[in-house]
Amino acid sequence: MVSLGCPKALVDSERILTRLRADGYAFAPDYAGADVVLVNTCGFLDSAKEESLAAIGEAIAENGRVIVTGCMGKEAEAIRARFPAVLAITGAQQYEAVMRAVHAAAPPSQGPFVDLIPQPEVKLTPRHYSYLKISEGCNHACSFCIIPQLRGPLASRRIDAVLREAEKLVAAGTRELLVISQDTSAYGVDIRHAPREWHGRLVRAHLTDLARELGGLLCPDGTRPWVRLHYVYPYPHVEDVVPLMAEGLLTPYLDIPFQHAAPGVLKAMKRPANEAKVLERIARWRAICPDLAIRSSFVVGFPGETEADFRYLLDWLEAARLDRVGAFRFEPVAGAPANTLPDAVPETVKEERYARLMAVSARISAAKLAAKVGQVMPVIIDEVGEADGDGEIGATGRSQADAPEIDGQVLLRDVPAGLAPGDIVAVRIEDADAHDLYGVVG
Ligand code: SF4
Repeated sequence: MVSLGCPKALVDSERILTRLRADGYAFAPDYAGADVVLVNTCGFLDSAKEESLAAIGEAIAENGRVIVTGCMGKEAEAIRARFPAVLAITGAQQYEAVMRAVHAAAPPSQGPFVDLIPQPEVKLTPRHYSYLKISEGCNHACSFCIIPQLRGPLASRRIDAVLREAEKLVAAGTRELLVISQDTSAYGVDIRHAPREWHGRLVRAHLTDLARELGGLLCPDGTRPWVRLHYVYPYPHVEDVVPLMAEGLLTPYLDIPFQHAAPGVLKAMKRPANEAKVLERIARWRAICPDLAIRSSFVVGFPGETEADFRYLLDWLEAARLDRVGAFRFEPVAGAPANTLPDAVPETVKEERYARLMAVSARISAAKLAAKVGQVMPVIIDEVGEADGDGEIGATGRSQADAPEIDGQVLLRDVPAGLAPGDIVAVRIEDADAHDLYGVVG
């Protein structure tokens, strides 16, 4: 990568490199060792254009396989006239186009580095949302999980580093930040919530400080980015971030992996924050922030789960009325202590319980979504379609209750021309099914 130009272009280069690394690419220190050279150009002043053209010329002479991106991408014809051998030309912040060009010029030799991001195959995160990883590892010892063995104990990032990354992402066009870790509520415990200076004040490495600072970010157009918290455990201090959601600083959404509800199963799972008062806690959060959407995942067929335990879970779901529910049938993971637990649940029983749980959660979801018909709500656009025979354009987006990849969608009809991914628009909901909403802009 040859990176020219201003700090915004540098952020673009960083984002491109981050994505390439996530796809398994490595970076060469010189032209000779590279399969392809990316030149991120500046086109602000004539002198900058000359410098960019000189950089392209040098890369072609030294390597021969060159992709051009950045501000000079707007002048593709001028570049092609001078350097017909250039493989591809894309404009500034066209990350997906750059990635496609790199994949075509030098196909990735391995699958993506699948980390905490729930992407099982090569799939690029669109520019308008970004994952913000705040820590690695975990201090818990859930019996079905080997993450602590694989990644070690909790290792939190410095708060100023996290906030700097968030600020850069938002400056570069991210409209939605997805805060991820293995245990977001525990952020900073390992570093004793060490405070760092951030914009002239001290900020602790603590979920509440992090949430408040992220809630204060502004996009270049002055609007607030959506900030979504994933992998939160229902510790008491989570109650401190819910008011920020009520104030509109954070997206009213909590992703809490409850995994089960029956006390005996939770004990066998060795789950953190395993206590009987979770339903009361949820009710308090909803009293503070009525729009709060809660998503969770559950495991059915854990060793020793009885029919009574499973019914307890179904009753709990009826009481909790979570907005989004994912479920998994228990599967042993090599090296996990749960594998040695007695009373394995037969596969047929797991299947039957899975189907019952999904039926209950679909019914609850359908009722909750039906109640939204007629409401007007903000929707972030993920994809805009082509015009059909009548010239009508459809689009897909998400409400604040929907995280990308894992939750539902809002399907829009007849959207205005010019609507683009990342736009946040007011949508009137016209219809709903068990998982998705249907609406129209305005
Ligand atoms: S499942 Fe349990 S042990 Fe595994 S990462 Fe999550 S909290 Fe940590």
